Amino acid sequence: MTQKDRLIAAIRGDDVDITPVASITQTGIEELMDATGAVWPEAHRDPEKMTALARAAHDIIGFEGLRVPYCLTVLLEALGCEVTEGSKTRQPSIKSHPYKKESENIPAEVPDDLLERGRIPVVLESIRMLARDDDGTVPIIAGAEGPITVASDLLEVTTFMKWSIKKRDVIERYVDYATDVVVAYANALFDAGADVFALLDPVASPDLLSPRDFEKLILPRYQEMSTRLNGDVVLHICGDVTAILPQLAETGFAAISIEEKTNLVEAKRAFQNKTRIVGNVSTSRTIFRGTPTEVLDESAMALQKGTDVLAPGCGLAPTSPIDNCKAMVVARNDYFDL
Ligand SMILES: [Zn+2]
Repeated sequence: MTQKDRLIAAIRGDDVDITPVASITQTGIEELMDATGAVWPEAHRDPEKMTALARAAHDIIGFEGLRVPYCLTVLLEALGCEVTEGSKTRQPSIKSHPYKKESENIPAEVPDDLLERGRIPVVLESIRMLARDDDGTVPIIAGAEGPITVASDLLEVTTFMKWSIKKRDVIERYVDYATDVVVAYANALFDAGADVFALLDPVASPDLLSPRDFEKLILPRYQEMSTRLNGDVVLHICGDVTAILPQLAETGFAAISIEEKTNLVEAKRAFQNKTRIVGNVSTSRTIFRGTPTEVLDESAMALQKGTDVLAPGCGLAPTSPIDNCKAMVVARNDYFDL
């Protein structure tokens, strides 16, 4: 099997020869930047650097995928949020919220020029470069912020939370708009050559919104998205998602990426192969602060518990040691006697 065939089969629940090891979350780490000269913040804005850094995570670490971009601000910037540039070891972040002034006037339609805005052309060009230069055997994974994260950052998260109780109809319209925008963007990513869309929606976490909100406000949008998106989707929600496992089984997405805070065995039981699992080696504890031996142990454990794709539980911290990332690949190879 090629790495692409294997990853697609693994997230769809089809048979695979071995479990793939890949990251559906951000892979830009400092040691890869030093090795390639593709350094943040330029690698967020320059398609060649974005591409070189993605390729390095495959060529140097051994992750079986090419993952772009390295932040959760591309779509939000295109929709009017101001974004900090960040630094070599800090991701860009959202600085302002265009609808913060308690605006109930949500745009009804996806902007006509969405794909020309901000850094969207950079990401699309990088995907086209990856697709063109590669022999087609390595999957291209493109990520973006999900609809709840988009809606809450357009408005500002505390207003979003407040209105989700007091002005539910306004919030419903915000989330509908965000859903349409994410679908339009994700389908453009697929058109450019992405094989997998990583839908990253940290604000949908039970840490921030109740399971009841997940059921009523979020799940129907995810289900709708799963029918409108023209390719395979892996959903990542940060934190402990134990409280919403039954709902996550029903999204219609190929797979769900979980952190170590969620018990893998419990998730597997709840999903019953309606959706697959990507994860869940701790990025903050083990990959960032641990030793390669600790990464080996935790990776072996995730494989033993039946993860469908061995992966970091969340985005890699930029200063994570490269040897810890490589240890995940070693662990997978050891597990299958390769
Ligand atoms: Zn996360």
